[in-house]
Amino acid sequence: MSRLVIVSNRVADPRKPAAGGLAVALGESMKKTGALWFGWSGEIIEEADGGVPGEGRLHTEQAGNIELVTVDLCREDHDAYYLGYANGVLWPVFHYRLDLGNYEPGFAEGYRRVNELFARKLLPLLRPDDQIWVHDYHLIPLAANLRAMGCRNRMGFFLHIPMPPPLITATIPHQEWLMRTLFAYDLLGFQSDADLLNFSHYVQSEAHADVLPDGRYRAFDRTVQAGAFPIGIDVDELIRLAETKEGSQMFKRLREEYSRRQLLVGVDRLDYSKGLPQRMRTFRELLTRFPENKNSATLIQIASPSREDVDAYTNIRTEMEHLCGAINGDFGELDWMPIRYIHRTVARKRLPGLYRASRVGLVTPLRDGMNLVAKEYIAAQDPEDPGVLVLSRFAGAAEQLKEALLVNPYDIEHTAKVIQQALHMPLDERRTRHAALLQRIKDQDIHWWCRTFLDTLANLDLPPLLLDAK
Ligand code: ADP
Repeated sequence: MSRLVIVSNRVADPRKPAAGGLAVALGESMKKTGALWFGWSGEIIEEADGGVPGEGRLHTEQAGNIELVTVDLCREDHDAYYLGYANGVLWPVFHYRLDLGNYEPGFAEGYRRVNELFARKLLPLLRPDDQIWVHDYHLIPLAANLRAMGCRNRMGFFLHIPMPPPLITATIPHQEWLMRTLFAYDLLGFQSDADLLNFSHYVQSEAHADVLPDGRYRAFDRTVQAGAFPIGIDVDELIRLAETKEGSQMFKRLREEYSRRQLLVGVDRLDYSKGLPQRMRTFRELLTRFPENKNSATLIQIASPSREDVDAYTNIRTEMEHLCGAINGDFGELDWMPIRYIHRTVARKRLPGLYRASRVGLVTPLRDGMNLVAKEYIAAQDPEDPGVLVLSRFAGAAEQLKEALLVNPYDIEHTAKVIQQALHMPLDERRTRHAALLQRIKDQDIHWWCRTFLDTLANLDLPPLLLDAK
């Protein structure tokens, strides 16, 4: 069995509790074969402390049979690559927010420099039969850099965020180069069929790629396979967490406190893609249009601080504080506030109890690659008395989770009506919908996702030596 090499912007020790679902799932695959996980160390070296663009010190740590290798970035590289091109250009544009793209000269150059640095540092650590799996928009050109340095390994790439339609992609500075570098991989994974279709349209219309009879794409003297691999969650872990002492205590406390009221929940990073201001306006509409919800319907909205160094994120915090403050001021009573807004990260072990105590889960992003909160909400429900998921049709998860109540989050009036429907859904219907949703997220959980992608990569019919590698 060949060794697995994972490359992602950040690296986590899969054995540590804070590692998160992705790290744990990758960790399982990595443990089987022994593995190398490569990425940024999280350290930023100032110029005054010797930081030099395109250079960085390596750190190595052993986590069981997984080797964690990370590289430092100098301030200039970090700002251009991470804050600049990745999170100031690619994140907004791939989420259809052309208005928020910050196209400063120098960002693309920094992004290229860091990808080249990653490739240069990784190459000497590779063995000839390693399988390499690169993750997400920070590292799109990595395979092209590695190939240019002579690397012939099997390489796959997974895009965790949406792939936009061709004309939106075409607005990105250096997009021809960026999209061309995707052809250095052997396998490309997207979250949904819609993303795959956008990729297919792009490469056929802009790159004049040929679609081969077996469905692979050929352009720039390279052939690449592409597919949709919707990422899942660790369902069993979520159910376990919901049933721990802490999980059930949280559930009981909230159920007691809200015994005569209806609880709704939202859990998001404070990101403009999550549709939070629209969600607050929708909640106001719910209270206005259906006044029986006054003194009853309560929204707990947790929004964790995110990317506060990126300009586009500064306004959303103020906007949320204003919207929540105004709704509480207009509708609140001495003994009831309609919104509990918490601008913090909540401990992971507390989430399942919170999800389970909430009659409605609001997952209403304007655009989202997948959205794992939607799946966590389903997993945490009591199958005998489950809550209802209200889900944006613009989340990748909507392709799989058809039994949720799907909404267009831009349509505030209609979404408010759907939330009202969710609050009054009969038990039978709630059970039927939940059972179907739970089955789907169990069938396609995080382990299924990892396995399916890696098996597809391993079984690709490739020439033994990639002689046409560019
Ligand atoms: P994204 O990756 O864009 O943040 P996802 O919904 O796919 O969105 O994944 C978010 C993950 O982070 C979920 O596992 C969720 O439980 C967790 N999370 C999001 N917001 C918070 C928060 N405020 N507190 C604790 N965990 C959070």
